[in-house]
Amino acid sequence: MGVPGKMGRERARAFNSFFVIKLFPEALKGGGRRRSDLIEMFCLRCREKVQLDEKDVSKETTAKGRPMLRAKCPKCGAKMTKFVK
Ligand SMILES: [Zn+2]
Repeated sequence: MGVPGKMGRERARAFNSFFVIKLFPEALKGGGRRRSDLIEMFCLRCREKVQLDEKDVSKETTAKGRPMLRAKCPKCGAKMTKFVK
């Protein structure tokens, strides 16, 4: 089963990164220097992330009342949707 002490340390590290994600979610998205007026979405047609200005993204709600973002890919024009937590 391995060394118990090492397992504990691994778990502690996982716990730490959990807190980083909780407290600094922007740290995961490009070094924490993300501008707040840019929204990052994933284009399925380009298969890459695109950054959109907030004004180009429309906020909508699904039939189930779930908030979502809708936008057009600036590169290929495909529709993109993204669910908001
Ligand atoms: Zn695209």
